[in-house]
Amino acid sequence: MALDFDLTEEHNMLRKMVRTFAEKEIAPVAQELDDKEEFSILLTNRMGELGLFGLCVSEEYGGSDMGYLSYIIATEEIARIDGSQAATLAAGCSLGISPIYYFGNDDQKSQWLPDLVTGKTLASFGLTEPDAGSDAGATKTTAYLEGDRWVINGSKIFITNSSTEISAICVVQAVTGKSQDGSKELSCILVPNGTPEFVAKPMHGKMVWRASNTGELYFKDCRVPKKNLLGKRGEGFHQMLETLDGGRLSIGAMGLGGAQGAFECAMKYSHEREQFGRPIGSFQVNAFKLADMYTEIEMARLLLYKACWLADNKRPFSKESAMAKLVCSETYHRVANHAVQLHGGYGLMKEYPVERHYRNQKLLDIGEGTSEVQRIVIARHIGVPGKAL
Ligand SMILES: Cc1cc2nc3c(=O)[nH]c(=O)nc-3n(C[C@H](O)[C@H](O)[C@H](O)COP(=O)(O)OP(=O)(O)OC[C@H]3O[C@@H](n4cnc5c(N)ncnc54)[C@H](O)[C@@H]3O)c2cc1C
Repeated sequence: MALDFDLTEEHNMLRKMVRTFAEKEIAPVAQELDDKEEFSILLTNRMGELGLFGLCVSEEYGGSDMGYLSYIIATEEIARIDGSQAATLAAGCSLGISPIYYFGNDDQKSQWLPDLVTGKTLASFGLTEPDAGSDAGATKTTAYLEGDRWVINGSKIFITNSSTEISAICVVQAVTGKSQDGSKELSCILVPNGTPEFVAKPMHGKMVWRASNTGELYFKDCRVPKKNLLGKRGEGFHQMLETLDGGRLSIGAMGLGGAQGAFECAMKYSHEREQFGRPIGSFQVNAFKLADMYTEIEMARLLLYKACWLADNKRPFSKESAMAKLVCSETYHRVANHAVQLHGGYGLMKEYPVERHYRNQKLLDIGEGTSEVQRIVIARHIGVPGKAL
């Protein structure tokens, strides 16, 4: 009997530990941080102390190597309470740490990973540009070699964790030349925060994840050592695709955890709120709504955990991570909408966490590849004619 739906004791203990942390330390401050658009160094450090940034990193660099499923359970539990802190964790791990861990050389890993894994510092992944969003290969930022240095010019937008006081390094995708077939040669280069002519500016006014950090980056003849190249020259596009495969699992976890949190709020309110002399959850239309929400969440969980199982067993998981990201984010979308509906007018007030869930879910339809892009990825995997563009 190879099929086993039981989580291990280790997974259950991790879930309990992260749930306690999120309920005791994040929940009391989440709304205030959201109101003030304030990034929390304290909570980031705490997530580091609890080992949450190192769940997929080997002990050599300070991690626990517990695997994708553990990381996804931790992210899910944080997102159940607050999307902003989950975003800091998910982007910190999947977009910040992963490329350095998987493609960096020993020197780069020893230099950057220990502090990233303990949450003392953050790394970011600079892919998106003003004119290169879904079409990530349309990167305009350039890097050329001048002696033993890369000279970088260009800009990036919407980069998570890139402009806080503890942001230490950005993995920047740049055009470094032309490939043999005439296409752009893309490479990733490590650019430490604080490098002259590298400006990282926080962006304000977000509807979603207001307590997470999002930055605009500018490079104007910014020089970094030649040895800051990540992996081999010309491998940037491939590195980006692999990084996003893992990242989609964590966006899936944010959708799943957020949906679970919104559902629990709705269930509690359905018991407490009475109209026409009865709890509103006892009206059949609302009971069915809650049953549908619960069922959809369970479907999303099965798909996401299967994708994690594939990743942990070193099997291909690109298609499954795209499917899990799509289903989990669209589940959150529907569940948060129902949860607000069940709260009536109170659901529109900041006093109730469903208001934050309703806003935060929207990012998941857009970040790390929009829902349309996930459908393109899935369509290509299943062999539709053409490129599904
Ligand atoms: C809060 C936040 C954090 C982010 N963090 C990061 C980060 O850390 N690093 C990073 O590099 N990026 C980050 N991003 C950027 C994010 O990945 C992009 O916003 C996303 O990929 C979409 O790109 P775009 O916004 O340019 O939209 P566009 O690509 O302009 O898309 C606009 C619309 O057109 C649709 N569309 C585009 N092409 C097609 C097509 N071929 N077929 C059908 N529909 C299509 C899209 O689905 C979308 O609905 C972040 C964004 C936000 C808002």
